[in-house]
Amino acid sequence: MEKTTMDTGIGDDPHINNIPAEEKVKLWIDDREVVADKGGNLLEAAKSIGVEVPSLCYLRGINEAGVCRVCLVEVDSGGRRSLQASCVYPVSEGLKIYTNSPRARRARKRVVELMLSEHDRDCTNCARTLNCELQRLADEMGIRKLRVKGETHNYPISRKNPFIVRDYNKCIKCRRCESVCREVQGVNVYTAKNRGYETVIAPAFMKDLGEVDCISCGQCLMACPTGSLTEREYIDEVWRAIEDPEKVVIAQAAPAIQVSIGESFGIAPGTAVTGKLAAALRRIGFDKVFSTEFAADLTIVEEAHELLERLEGHGKLPLISSCSPGWVKFCEHFYPQFLDNLSTCKSPMEMFGALIKTYLAEKENIDPRKMVVAGIMPCTAKKFEAARQELVTRGSRDVDYVLTTRELARMLRSAGIRFDQLPDEEFDKPLGLSTGAGAIFAATGGVTEAAVRTALSLTGGQDNTVIEFKEIRGLKGIKESKVQIKGRPVRIAVAHGTRNARKLMEKIKSGEHYDFVEIMACPGGCVGGGGQPIQGTVSKKEAAAEAKTKRTQALYRIDADKKFRRSHENPAVKQLYKDFLGEPLSERAKEILHTSYIPRGKRISKLLH
Ligand code: SF4
Ligand code: SF4
Ligand code: SF4
Repeated sequence: MEKTTMDTGIGDDPHINNIPAEEKVKLWIDDREVVADKGGNLLEAAKSIGVEVPSLCYLRGINEAGVCRVCLVEVDSGGRRSLQASCVYPVSEGLKIYTNSPRARRARKRVVELMLSEHDRDCTNCARTLNCELQRLADEMGIRKLRVKGETHNYPISRKNPFIVRDYNKCIKCRRCESVCREVQGVNVYTAKNRGYETVIAPAFMKDLGEVDCISCGQCLMACPTGSLTEREYIDEVWRAIEDPEKVVIAQAAPAIQVSIGESFGIAPGTAVTGKLAAALRRIGFDKVFSTEFAADLTIVEEAHELLERLEGHGKLPLISSCSPGWVKFCEHFYPQFLDNLSTCKSPMEMFGALIKTYLAEKENIDPRKMVVAGIMPCTAKKFEAARQELVTRGSRDVDYVLTTRELARMLRSAGIRFDQLPDEEFDKPLGLSTGAGAIFAATGGVTEAAVRTALSLTGGQDNTVIEFKEIRGLKGIKESKVQIKGRPVRIAVAHGTRNARKLMEKIKSGEHYDFVEIMACPGGCVGGGGQPIQGTVSKKEAAAEAKTKRTQALYRIDADKKFRRSHENPAVKQLYKDFLGEPLSERAKEILHTSYIPRGKRISKLLH
């Protein structure tokens, strides 16, 4: 069967059979003639003529198991009609199917009713209410009363880790989480256990995600159609800090937020709402509001110097980026032998947190113990990162709380702030200043492009006028390029999505040489992070992919419009070195801005490689 990848970042997936376009079949859908690709399924064929058969477990190219049976249609074979799951039934010449027959509609409704009968239906206080695929289906099918009463489980809610909460009582066993974790992320945390009504989709021995090899990326959560997987919320903690007159509460928003938060308020994907974001954070009550882009610039300055040092023989090559905490955790679990290759730079969020509690505290004469730093991030892995012991300094975390884009949207709604009507404001100065290089950090290839801009400029290489480095832009799973730095060729590789990361790391393990490697855990980079707005329904997965592309394009537009586009040109970064840090990689910079990593347990997993 042909599989199409959607925008998963899988790239050159070996599971895709490319069917030549001329291999078509003619079939009949609801008495209309349809020409479809041979090897495709009925669900996609119906979609090609504008018929959206309801479905739930189906994720094109990722989860095509037909387990939920929501997509039933009637198939006529030789005059005998039977109900079939359209997502796994192949198209064939002359086939007749009926998507809208009374029998097909009744059967689909019955399937959803059965699902609901054993579901913990506390929609009013569920994090996914109004954005839940099960709720939407129930509404669209007109289910106003349940005719069947099923037995419900009463599983304890698993919330032992700081990033994802798992509520088995809301799981519909669609297995989308399992497929995404294995097929897109190459981690393979979940499996199905038990049978029938007792089936659960869970990590081994029903362990919490914090107790297994999970990298906290949140991609399973993005794929989950219900409230079974949700982020661990810190909204109440942040409100409490804001309400405490003793506390100075500081927000820093990642570059990806400015191109995605608007979607939560009906603004078109790809609209940059930087000014509204700064205004919204102030309205919520944060005492100071910054963009993490400033620290992204700082990271680049430190990391470019680290690269130059390593190219001169001080430290291991390739230098591998460390700004994606999901990737760092992946490396710690699966490639601990490469931990010395990881850049020692903290992620921009952590650098900023550490600077706020040192530099800003000193500059503005604020007791750092009274400071509370909240990171607004597109990411669930940042919640794990903020809790790492290595990132606790003098008894205090560099970043106290991490809120996802979705949590910020909830806070704004609960405060009655009409985001779309806010006037544009600026982030606080001077730490609110940033360059275009800081903005593109949020897209796959952006860290590399930013690092190359600075490295070329600092070394006065032949290409030091180059600003845009387009070879490593785009959603290909693994991208490669080469630049000349100090007269020597520097080989670069970029991967996004940890399944692609695994492929790249295996190449490196088998002797392929690179000098600089960028890896982002999430497909597309932070624009596709596990904390971003969830784009609706299965049928809208294409819309989700489109949103990711538009967010990326918006970042490149922000970059192109900036006065400064190289990180080391940021006047606030220059001032910071002059006033406080001395120079890149100075002792003080290393103490505040750099970190270390720990090898973690590795479980034998049934991976596809
Ligand atoms: S998962 Fe959906 S159907 Fe279930 S309680 Fe939450 S909103 Fe309601
Ligand atoms: S958070 Fe990422 S690694 Fe963990 S289970 Fe979900 S998809 Fe897998
Ligand atoms: S946790 Fe969500 S994605 Fe996973 S099987 Fe349950 S409902 Fe499906």
